[in-house]
Amino acid sequence: MDGLTFYHGFVVPFIVGVSVLFAVIFYKYVRWFVRLPRRDRRKVRRGIFSFATIRAAWECFTECLLHRRIWRVNPLLGYMHTSFALGWALLIAVGWLETVACLGGRFVPLQGHIFFKFFTTSLEHGPRWGIDFEAVMDLLLLYVLSGLVLALFKRIRSRALGMKRTTRLTLGDKVALSSLWFIFPMRLVAESLTSGLHGSGGPLTGTLGAVLAPLATPGLELAAWWGYSIALGVFFVAMPFSRYMHIFTEVPLIFLRRWGVRSEVRENSFDHFQIEACSRCGICLDPCQMQRDARDLGEVQSVYFIRDRRYNHLTRRVADTCLMCGRCEGRCPVGLQLDTLRLGSRRSLNDTPADDRYAYARGRDTSSGEGKVGYFAGCMTLLSPRILKAMESIFIAAGDDVWWADREGGVCCGRPMKLSGEVDAARDMVRLNTELFRKHGITTLVTSCPICLRVFREDYSLDGIEVVHHSEYFARLLSGGRITLSAGSETLTYHDPCELGRGCGIYEPPREVIKAVGALAEPAETREHALCCGASIAGNAISGTATLAMGRAVGSAFEQTGAQTIVTACPLCKKALARSGTLPVVDLAELVERHLAG
Ligand code: SF4
Ligand code: SF4
Repeated sequence: MDGLTFYHGFVVPFIVGVSVLFAVIFYKYVRWFVRLPRRDRRKVRRGIFSFATIRAAWECFTECLLHRRIWRVNPLLGYMHTSFALGWALLIAVGWLETVACLGGRFVPLQGHIFFKFFTTSLEHGPRWGIDFEAVMDLLLLYVLSGLVLALFKRIRSRALGMKRTTRLTLGDKVALSSLWFIFPMRLVAESLTSGLHGSGGPLTGTLGAVLAPLATPGLELAAWWGYSIALGVFFVAMPFSRYMHIFTEVPLIFLRRWGVRSEVRENSFDHFQIEACSRCGICLDPCQMQRDARDLGEVQSVYFIRDRRYNHLTRRVADTCLMCGRCEGRCPVGLQLDTLRLGSRRSLNDTPADDRYAYARGRDTSSGEGKVGYFAGCMTLLSPRILKAMESIFIAAGDDVWWADREGGVCCGRPMKLSGEVDAARDMVRLNTELFRKHGITTLVTSCPICLRVFREDYSLDGIEVVHHSEYFARLLSGGRITLSAGSETLTYHDPCELGRGCGIYEPPREVIKAVGALAEPAETREHALCCGASIAGNAISGTATLAMGRAVGSAFEQTGAQTIVTACPLCKKALARSGTLPVVDLAELVERHLAG
């Protein structure tokens, strides 16, 4: 054992690679961390000694190594990612144990663990601590190689792995990926040649070594170890500049998130952790309707938006071309705040000067009526007189005295401005409306528009005023016996508006109301997976043709339910779905009005 040495020329590429990798990672993480807003650093200080840290460590295990979320979306992809992450981590951990089992407490430099087989040919082989390490290491290597085969297959035939599209690679990705293809096959060849020359090895390397033995020479063996070391070195150097940076970055992201740090509409340093934790897995591509139904929009989906932002060539077109429907965010296995990141970019790229455009609205009050229940129709409902009329009939039937906030036209709720990046103007709107609601002393605020609902709930401070969507209001009226509805024989299908479903988590109340008047036929993609109508106010940069194409595809998905009518709970969705020219469309308020008994 004394004659063992752990130095050889071929380890240089590996050592250089590891050094570059850790230097770059250290520089990036420290820089991002010290630039976090002070309140976020305070959250970190408070969270570090809490249970959140234990939960973060567990999440790192389940997500960074086991890739639980990817398994849920696509088991084949889950297997592929787990075999790389868990398999490689175990190869390192078990390899380290093997070193300790064979050499006791003796100091072994890093390369000694990594190229253990090469440096320890003079050691006696056989189980240590009752464990056949060679067999275990071979099994782990086989596990990683099986993932590699799957990854290769995915590049050739992604559809076979349940992915219609894979992402385009950057130069950094190509270099890192090319070296990654070689790392484990080179390790197999190198270890097998060493086994063949020295009569060692486990079931895999020993068997392959026996096959290669007639060809094996010390020169060939050394060439294979050089190949393995170069592949590792190139991968490690390319890693921080490629998608593979996500391997390390997901860890601090999880801890920071668990300690309460979040991205906000104003870009900040935490965004870097989110952006570089994106693995460019492409899972967000298939659910995107801009990808499915409006192909001419180009590379604008979340994966490309994140890529462009990471490499500082994000354009306003890419930032603005998105429905912000949340379908990709719901699927992202890393749990990235994709909508918030995009909002931040829209805000930064927004070139509308901050002015006092909405000063005219100060003190403006066009409201009418009086009551503890306030009704905010919102711009889109004001353009849908049938919904307004239906709401009036329902308020009368329920016996509620209502204060109409904006019947004669009012000010915007602020969300459309926020979504277009005009965050300061949106803040003005929020302040003006809050003053208006407070002035009239309402205790409940009903709105028919999910866009308004979301901004009221997320951005307004309306303590003492309960904000409800009209679907929730109707469901309450029904369950409280304040209105009764006559049941019909019609089959209805329901479209979950993005802002109401994924945005506010409201799925049940509209369904309860629909089931009170007819049969409900759900479309194939529903609730959390519901399709966007295609006309989101967040997608103003999307052409009319693309919007119509997306609307038509949604309409035909509803036709396939066999329903006679589409019901939705958003004035904007109603207009978009009606334009699709498929089934008749009504808002939930109109449906309730139609079935009001008496
Ligand atoms: S945004 Fe999420 S789903 Fe999309 S490529 Fe990145 S990690 Fe994958
Ligand atoms: S938010 Fe919707 S439209 Fe935008 S990229 Fe994601 S899935 Fe596509």
